[in-house]
Amino acid sequence: MKVTEHIKNGNGKTQFSFEILPPLKGENIHSIFENIDPLMEFQPPYINVTYHREEYVFKELKNGLIEKKIVRKRPGTVGICAAIQNKYVVDAVPHILCGGFTKEETENFLIDLQFLGIDNVMGDAVKSETYFTPEKNGHKYACDLVSQINDLNKGTYLDDELQHTFPTDFCVGVAGYPEKHMEAPSSESDIHFLKKKIKNGAEYIVTQMFFDNEKYFKFVEKCRADGITVPIIPGLKPIAVKSHLNLIPHRFKVDLPDALVMEVVKAKDNKAVRQIGIDWCVKQSKELVKAGVPFLHYYSMGKSSNIKEIASQIF
Ligand SMILES: Cc1cc2nc3c(=O)[nH]c(=O)nc-3n(C[C@H](O)[C@H](O)[C@H](O)COP(=O)(O)OP(=O)(O)OC[C@H]3O[C@@H](n4cnc5c(N)ncnc54)[C@H](O)[C@@H]3O)c2cc1C
Repeated sequence: MKVTEHIKNGNGKTQFSFEILPPLKGENIHSIFENIDPLMEFQPPYINVTYHREEYVFKELKNGLIEKKIVRKRPGTVGICAAIQNKYVVDAVPHILCGGFTKEETENFLIDLQFLGIDNVMGDAVKSETYFTPEKNGHKYACDLVSQINDLNKGTYLDDELQHTFPTDFCVGVAGYPEKHMEAPSSESDIHFLKKKIKNGAEYIVTQMFFDNEKYFKFVEKCRADGITVPIIPGLKPIAVKSHLNLIPHRFKVDLPDALVMEVVKAKDNKAVRQIGIDWCVKQSKELVKAGVPFLHYYSMGKSSNIKEIASQIF
């Protein structure tokens, strides 16, 4: 079932969803199930699975030279989605990227998903890198990727000589940034291009994590003023360890409110930090539920115990 149908079926009640990462290459899929199992009592209608393209790593050799290697640390998005749908009988939402995919590979990826009975995809540009180079014959922006999925939904495949083509029926979600995307020159231009993703066929938005609900509320207000009418699902992540104070702003380009920072700085150990993160996220969640958001989408990052504690106070 499509995410938009799940929203409709919620009849205005806020529902629970979360996102997982494929395990590191070589690890067992059971580590994923161990993290999903405790969250199933909150009845998520769908689970997102992120996509991780190859990365460059630099390895120092014995002779002192540096070797540049390409590695894919977390393959397996499609397989995990199929396993989730099989094991839990809930929808899986695989993320799909512009980066690392030609248009042909994108099409083949989508065909696999369709054969597996996966109805939803989340279209992203690429994992942040200093200079993003699209594949030759790949997409540069998520809006172009969304267009390709939309074409496939109309039965238009890349090879126009194909006969008896079957239209897919994917429901496409896209990313939105309450604190603007790191490369966007202004929040207005970011929202302008977000609108393009919707115009090209995306049916809902999931936001980047934020720690101050005002940022989400203002973002929704701006989107609505600009004519974006689709559901905007807030994405939340609890702070879990002290190092998140630096890592999260660095990696995701989001601000942490002073009050939260001060509490974490004063915490005596990471056990205390974890509790502060849970309490903060519960406060955010309660306010967002009151505001009538369709879903609360938690970034679990593969660790479910704090998400469980939060969800048990909300759902
Ligand atoms: C909910 C969510 C899920 C994510 N999942 C993953 C994942 O699974 N794997 C992963 O590697 N990363 C993931 N990311 C990170 C994401 O891929 C990066 O943040 C990426 O840099 C941007 O993706 P986007 O879809 O917003 O790109 P885009 O919409 O292409 O935007 C990128 C930048 O280009 C600008 N822009 C957009 N269109 C145009 C245009 N036509 N002309 C000029 N400028 C334009 C935008 O304003 C923005 O600054 C996720 C992020 C979020 C919020």
